[in-house]
Amino acid sequence: MSEAVGEAKLEVKQASKEVKESENVAEKYSAMTVSKNSEMNMGDLSAVFSAVPTHKPVKKQIQFVEDKQEFSRFPTKAGRRSLSRSISQSSTDSYSSAASYTDSSDDETSPRDKTQVNSKGSSDFCVKNIKQAEFGRREIEIAEQDMSALISLRKRAQSEKPLAGAKIVGCTHITAQTAVLIETLVALGAQCRWTACNIYSTQNEVAAALSETGVAVFAWKGESEDDFWWCIDRCVNTEGWQPNMILDDGGDLTHWMYKKYPNVFKKIRGIVEESVTGVHRLYQLSKAGKLCVPAMNVNDSVTKQKFDNLYCCRESILDGLKRTTDVMFGGKQVVVCGYGEVGKGCCAALKALGAIVYVTEIDPICALQACMDGFRVVKLNEVIRLVDVIITCTGNKNVVTRDQLDRMKNGSIVCNMGHSNTEIDVASLRTPELTWERVRSQVDHVIWPDGKRIILLAEGRLLNLSCSTVPTFVLSITATTQALALIELYNAPEGRYKQDVYLLPKKMDEYVASLHLATFDAHLTELSDEQAKYLGLNKNGPFKPNYYRY
Ligand code: NAD
Repeated sequence: MSEAVGEAKLEVKQASKEVKESENVAEKYSAMTVSKNSEMNMGDLSAVFSAVPTHKPVKKQIQFVEDKQEFSRFPTKAGRRSLSRSISQSSTDSYSSAASYTDSSDDETSPRDKTQVNSKGSSDFCVKNIKQAEFGRREIEIAEQDMSALISLRKRAQSEKPLAGAKIVGCTHITAQTAVLIETLVALGAQCRWTACNIYSTQNEVAAALSETGVAVFAWKGESEDDFWWCIDRCVNTEGWQPNMILDDGGDLTHWMYKKYPNVFKKIRGIVEESVTGVHRLYQLSKAGKLCVPAMNVNDSVTKQKFDNLYCCRESILDGLKRTTDVMFGGKQVVVCGYGEVGKGCCAALKALGAIVYVTEIDPICALQACMDGFRVVKLNEVIRLVDVIITCTGNKNVVTRDQLDRMKNGSIVCNMGHSNTEIDVASLRTPELTWERVRSQVDHVIWPDGKRIILLAEGRLLNLSCSTVPTFVLSITATTQALALIELYNAPEGRYKQDVYLLPKKMDEYVASLHLATFDAHLTELSDEQAKYLGLNKNGPFKPNYYRY
């Protein structure tokens, strides 16, 4: 996976270049006014998108893994329960609160074996327990409080119903924050059927609350792999209802429809995809000339990347470490491997709490940035015997090796914030001379023969996804982007979008950001005519070229 991620980065860079070449089209977006109150006429959306350049498929692609897995229509009970689907690559591309009010182990009966009916008499859903709906509603209400931009979009567009007639199938984490998005789509006129992109991340009570309001949800925490595909199929394949839009996180739903229901897939008006993996799959299809539907790559919009990677990690790294270890950071020596967006966020948080932070980097530019920010840039071997905590954030593999783990001091904490669980060579710790002791959920002590122990978190998987929550506000930004992308794709006149993958235009990113400024009562400075002329900008944006790095 890490190689794929590397190629992905190259791909994104190439994509940005293409957008830059067509930059003059940005002038056409000037018709859209973002008022002082950060509000926008929904009718302007089409103008915003109308001149978006085609994002051509690029040369470097990851291997398109054929998901041959099919659900068995009548599986054995044991088959259903076996959690053979580990947290998928796709499902870790985006992050959501995995916390759940209820423990999925409280009722061992598979939801597939239950007959449940909501208060309106519908049984078109499959969740753990519909009776948890009230608890789920409270969770959704809490999430709404920190998703005011999405709620304001909902209120603004509610009367126009820009999604009237849209039949959206969604495959995302099913959490309180996603529920706010789904209910926004419904308020804008859409009919939704939803399934989970991750077998562990569903908040059962939230799934119940959605099902109670009439959204057909097929998901529960702790699905088996067979359940996972069964749920996707139940979303797509239902009598008298044919989806015309897809909202995907990881590409599994898109792939399932493409393979199993090609005729339905062909009629889809648009796909919105938020994850690295899902976006790669789309580019792969596009490259092979098999993408017969326009798709929007939400993953590479600035508001998604910066906020998910930098700010989200800045907030959640401490949460993950505190919940699992109760560690005090003041005076602790911490090494952060990788000073990209995630590394920068982690370092900033740790420094603020008084930790002594070292950085390792392969890239001189990022290394110099770390120096300028006041961090010591070292090779891991120089500090391996000193440090109390190692955090990997590289997207690479074998960044921390067994040899280095052997040299760490007693009681040190080892964890990963990168996408893949191969950054730390955890497999090398599964040898007979080392003892593993599970001390808490997601916390293992690995004990050497001389009694030394290191504290390994989440078995080297993403710390914040596995052990903490992520801020609702960040998810609001991504959700708002997704909602706008769906509205645009659904309302675009025929021919505006070809069978290709599109990036969101800068103007759209700026709009999503502007909606969220209201939360902070932040007041934007407006360009004077003279200043706008001097900078060669339209007063209403976009304010930066596509190659600007923020
Ligand atoms: P990035 O490319 O901006 O940063 C990664 C950095 O690691 C780069 O600067 C690179 O030069 C450096 N690097 C690569 N190999 C290295 C090595 N062997 N030693 C030291 N440095 C090395 O990427 P990013 O946006 O910071 O994301 C990093 C990882 O975190 C990715 O896997 C991404 O998918 C994941 N991610 C996690 C979260 C989360 O919430 N935990 C959020 C977003 C992204």
